[in-house]
Amino acid sequence: MTDKADYVICSKPSYISLDCPICDEHIEIDWDKIAGAFGEGEAYYGNCGAIMCQNCGHDIELGDVEYD
Ligand SMILES: [Zn+2]
Repeated sequence: MTDKADYVICSKPSYISLDCPICDEHIEIDWDKIAGAFGEGEAYYGNCGAIMCQNCGHDIELGDVEYD
């Protein structure tokens, strides 16, 4: 007789994506960079810091986070 346990497949975030509020450029940043810069725990909950838009050079404050 074997006991059964349900299991969960856990995935690691691969990148974050956002649109620049200044120039509307679509930005994708590797999760490793975000987690490295702001801390993995912080990055999950949003409002963790600011990044720079590669297109227009403006600082973009990271706001609320949504999990896809
Ligand atoms: Zn921009």
